[in-house]
Amino acid sequence: MIKLQQIWDNILLETESKVSTLQYDLYINQLQPVGIHNDRLYLLAETRIVKGIVDKNYKDIIRKCTNLVFPTIIDVEIVTENDLDNIGDVEKEAELPVSSSYVSLVDDKAVFVAQYTFDNFVVGKSNEYAHAVAYAVSEAETTKYNPVFLWGGVGLGKTHLMHAIGNSLQRNFPEKKIKYVTCDQFVNEFIESLHDTTNPNAMKNFRNKYRKLDVLMMDDVQFLAKKEGTQEEMFHTFNELYLANKQIILSSDRPPKEIQIEERLKTRFATGVIADIQPPDLETRIAILQKKCNAKGYGLDIRVLSLIAEKITNNIREMEGMLNRIISYSTLVGGNPNEMNIVHDALRDYADSTSDIITIDHIVAATCDYFRVKREDLIGKKKNKEIVVPRQICIYLICDILGQSIPLVSIGEYFGGRDHTTVMHARDKISEECKNNDTTAAHVKDIRDKIYNR
Ligand code: ADP
Ligand code: MG
Repeated sequence: MIKLQQIWDNILLETESKVSTLQYDLYINQLQPVGIHNDRLYLLAETRIVKGIVDKNYKDIIRKCTNLVFPTIIDVEIVTENDLDNIGDVEKEAELPVSSSYVSLVDDKAVFVAQYTFDNFVVGKSNEYAHAVAYAVSEAETTKYNPVFLWGGVGLGKTHLMHAIGNSLQRNFPEKKIKYVTCDQFVNEFIESLHDTTNPNAMKNFRNKYRKLDVLMMDDVQFLAKKEGTQEEMFHTFNELYLANKQIILSSDRPPKEIQIEERLKTRFATGVIADIQPPDLETRIAILQKKCNAKGYGLDIRVLSLIAEKITNNIREMEGMLNRIISYSTLVGGNPNEMNIVHDALRDYADSTSDIITIDHIVAATCDYFRVKREDLIGKKKNKEIVVPRQICIYLICDILGQSIPLVSIGEYFGGRDHTTVMHARDKISEECKNNDTTAAHVKDIRDKIYNR
């Protein structure tokens, strides 16, 4: 059972990155979870005005994030004190399947998502090497590949593979001390231990916890960027484990050399096996959807699955979201999920709920697609004109579309750790060119259309 507050905390974690800090603090973080009733999460707003603002601007985002973390919660409703009597009996805790790595917030004992196994992982060309390495590690008594570094875009299965290793290791070697941690968690724990004035042993306990492990898995290590203190701590943790021949498994959205961390840590991260995961081809995407349907007991035709797989090409989590949407919609309206009119209605709704959330990833993807350049080149170091122009246009579009909601420093970080002055330069240059150069203006317009008509 997961308690209501924990459910809401996890949703907040997911929402935080989708809106500006101001919007988050002013409106979203002010909401109080009331309970769950009929697969609907009720959130209390302090006044009708706040409710109005949230309903209009943030409800869809909150619903989408809720759906990402807890796929079985279908809807979110914002209420005020006056509405409370009409809701009926709400549940204050629930048995919810969690869709991602969130359960690992439970501390001390390694907890792995039960569904994230090797059996449930579909292997295709795009991920076969990463899968083979992960599988080998999960079967090995001693370390063969160390560290293992998995990298690839969002929603392509890195976390799934790590949990699969965890599930399998726990079964094969129950005596091993295994820990899975997201980089953010590690950073937060480190900072908390550092500032813990109530417990003089806090730092020592923190170190012991991580340096006495048999297996350490750290997810999304790109978030070590700019955290010098934590990098130093990670460096020593890494060395101690590595020298004691303990297994280290890392994941990131980019290869080690492109993470903005100190050189010596980069070198350490790259000394073992580096395996990338690329977006899967159409057949693999359909196979993944079939597997998900089998696991969840959804009887969906291949026609419907193909439609989803054709619509979403580079993020499996989003494909799952669409799948869940079709199922929940058909259940709500009492229709057959294999009927194309039901599918289309469900997806119209889905498109509505996602269309207003444009993220930096969308803009980058649209630019790459338009100029036919690779994402890693666009955000990487290459300086040839074929890359530099798309990069500058992309940065301009990010500044223009996302505006104040994203600081220039973060954009610079996203683009391989560039300085914010570089971001400003690109932005101003393209802004100027849009006025004087028809070609640039046309590029910008076309990509913008692409982003809004996605
Ligand atoms: P990442 O950590 O790379 O962002 P996740 O591991 O969270 O991605 O994967 C997102 C979703 O896609 C998860 O529900 C996961 O089970 C699913 N998924 C990814 N790759 C595969 C695959 N090859 N086979 C089956 N499911 C997959
Ligand atoms: Mg992940």
